[in-house]
Amino acid sequence: MTVKIIAQIAGDGIGPEVIRQGRKAADAATAKTGTDLEWRTFPWGASHYLSTGEVLPDDAVDRLSECDSIYLGAIGDPKVKPGILERGILLTLRFGFDMYVNLRPARAFPKVPVPIAGADGHSIDMLVVRENTEDLYMGLGATGDGSIDEAIEAERGLYDLTGSVKLETGHRMAMQMGIATEPAIRRITATACRFARGRGDDSILLATKANAMPQLYGFWEEIAADEAKAQGIPMETMNVDAMCYHAVRSPWDFGTVLCPNLFGDIVSDLFAGITGGLGVAAGGNLGDGLGMFEPIHGSAPDIAGTDRANPLAAILSAGLMLDSLGEHRAAKTIDRAVETFLSENDGDDLPREMGGQVGTEAVGDRVAEIIERIG
Ligand code: ATP
Ligand code: MG
Repeated sequence: MTVKIIAQIAGDGIGPEVIRQGRKAADAATAKTGTDLEWRTFPWGASHYLSTGEVLPDDAVDRLSECDSIYLGAIGDPKVKPGILERGILLTLRFGFDMYVNLRPARAFPKVPVPIAGADGHSIDMLVVRENTEDLYMGLGATGDGSIDEAIEAERGLYDLTGSVKLETGHRMAMQMGIATEPAIRRITATACRFARGRGDDSILLATKANAMPQLYGFWEEIAADEAKAQGIPMETMNVDAMCYHAVRSPWDFGTVLCPNLFGDIVSDLFAGITGGLGVAAGGNLGDGLGMFEPIHGSAPDIAGTDRANPLAAILSAGLMLDSLGEHRAAKTIDRAVETFLSENDGDDLPREMGGQVGTEAVGDRVAEIIERIG
């Protein structure tokens, strides 16, 4: 019997409600594969912070290191100032475990309306592989009163890299810097190739904006192309704006899409919108150590405690997590069970978020039953 230890951080609002359903699905799916999931629960999140004043204990990363993966609900509460928990928990864990990949599958499921004309009869199954550590999201920026030099002067030390830039504007101004390093591009490209191969895609698509930002994204194209070649997967490139245009017109033409951090953030949400939204949008952050898997939606305090949350996104995230742990059969079973649940049911028998009458717990039970039947 293999044992995998899962750190469960259910969090706030609907987080605990949907996580319970994902856990049921994961337990049911691994029951027949000879793997035992050991769940360790951690209380962190907005409620914990509001009642104890603690965001994350100093030994959080150490304690989580004993686990194989993190399964996260949603963290946040309107009473907590934005940023405190995002930085204090999510970024700490992401950087603590060097989770350099953000994975966002976007798939059209039965009964989930796709807001795209002509989608009937097409299979939409995309995957965004987003670089998670660099680009314009490193907080390398400054504001100044008239020149970049002044802005740089204001935050000396961090910005030695731009010491040679001289730009007088005479106006208040601001700058933000994007960074790309060869090892980071190589490892994310290799990851995209690995996932493409696993999905049966015969190529990957790199979406950047090399025409407008040739230094940063020209470099991306050069390194990514070389790495994809080394991995034996053909790579195409497209400007991200053109890709967005095509994606809303014919999303069925897309498979594995590789993006730098900023564009990946935007494209992930676009793809989630194309495939029907928050109720079924799963995500994962992974590195070479343990990863963190979560539904894309937030804590949704407006519906917490009302049995209205759709747990399918959390259930699908549990599937992604199992896949990353090498539990491919269990992961596939979860995916198929969600698909089966949606195709077997109509009207009132759908989740409430989709216009039906089935509550959070009951959706979880039905999916778990299907898993037992087909697993
Ligand atoms: P964040 O601050 O992270 O955006 P949030 O609490 O605002 O989190 P969102 O994910 O932005 O939550 O969701 C917006 C709204 O969509 C929620 O307030 C809720 O009404 C609805 N919603 C989100 N997820 C679900 C779900 N799984 N089931 C049903 N409704 C949902
Ligand atoms: Mg929101």
